[in-house]
Amino acid sequence: MKVTLKNVTKKFGSTVAVNDFSATFPDGHLICLLGPSGCGKSTVLNILCGILDVTSGQVFFDDDDVTSLSPEQRNIGMVFQNYALYPHLTVLENIAFPLEVQKVNKKIRIEKAKEIAELVHVENLLHRFPGELSGGQQQRVAIARALIKNPKLLLMDEPLSNLDARLRLEMREEIRRIQIETGVTTIFVTHDQDEAMSISDSIILMKDGVLAQEGLCTELYNQPNSKFVADFLGNPPINVIEGYLEKNKFIFDDNSGSIFLENMTDLNMPNMTKLFENKKLTLAIRPESFILDKIISKDDTDKYDKNLFQVLSVFKQTREELAHIKIGTKELSIFLPDDSGVKKYDKVVLSVKQKGCFIFNAQTGERLKW
Ligand code: ATP
Repeated sequence: MKVTLKNVTKKFGSTVAVNDFSATFPDGHLICLLGPSGCGKSTVLNILCGILDVTSGQVFFDDDDVTSLSPEQRNIGMVFQNYALYPHLTVLENIAFPLEVQKVNKKIRIEKAKEIAELVHVENLLHRFPGELSGGQQQRVAIARALIKNPKLLLMDEPLSNLDARLRLEMREEIRRIQIETGVTTIFVTHDQDEAMSISDSIILMKDGVLAQEGLCTELYNQPNSKFVADFLGNPPINVIEGYLEKNKFIFDDNSGSIFLENMTDLNMPNMTKLFENKKLTLAIRPESFILDKIISKDDTDKYDKNLFQVLSVFKQTREELAHIKIGTKELSIFLPDDSGVKKYDKVVLSVKQKGCFIFNAQTGERLKW
């Protein structure tokens, strides 16, 4: 089922939780609603399931306007962070519970519960109580319970937050497998960008109740339309420096240094100068967008006047090295190839790749494209 929100606004008194929000969730897709705390993700979910009414705007399931329908009339499955299982019921009874409420015949609901238990791999735990299950197992039961009514839409609100790191990874894959097997349109709320990137077909990134950008994870990462989007995605975060441009030289706002963007050849063109002239800009460079040109011995430092960075620290990671470097007053994080030979206190000459390097209007945060 396709889900559409059309110009939805939700106010709580003077707080605008969701502001003129329009989005489409295609049939059979898993879409992540991502964004910082308080940006309106849970409000959107609660509007979709009918717990909250809208201040203005409309909600459509396929072509049907469901804005005024009650939660019971919407046939939605919900999974929460805290599992919300009934402690006094067994796994089988928990999974079958929604059908019991609907007064489905006992034999049929047990059959159906066993079938769903197999789908989520808890068929061997049917007679245990929630207190006798691990966090991951409890979440599997909660997912089974949400799916037993064959919902048209599955809403998941930070379902993995209570699990330890390893189990989170396992359950991400499991949720994706179950979603693909059932084909149910799923909206998954998280503030964890890695989770969103790994699990979803696409992402809707929210900020202050509005849609900041939507698209494939790689699109948002590689083509952010604003400083907020560039900054929100990426770990370590993108390096951000305020300043201004002179052709392809980005000069820091405190004049403590500059970075040559030699690979951005377009910046040399005359019309570019006009576009950027006298503008306060924000330069943002992803940590993986630096190329190590040279490691400089102490005596040679004077020979290099461009993009000479001081190395503050180098940390070995599994597949690369993460270094903190300084130029002028600015400290940046960069990835270097494994065994780069770079050490603390070295000086290095770096160039900047075009991919992963962005320029934003410093006032509006909007990306400048050329
Ligand atoms: P989190 O990731 O922390 O759960 P969120 O993105 O889900 O945050 P919401 O819970 O949707 O954000 O809240 C959006 C805004 O609306 C916040 O400013 C919040 O304080 C406000 N808000 C949410 N529910 C209510 C309410 N019942 N009454 C008043 N304000 C509310």
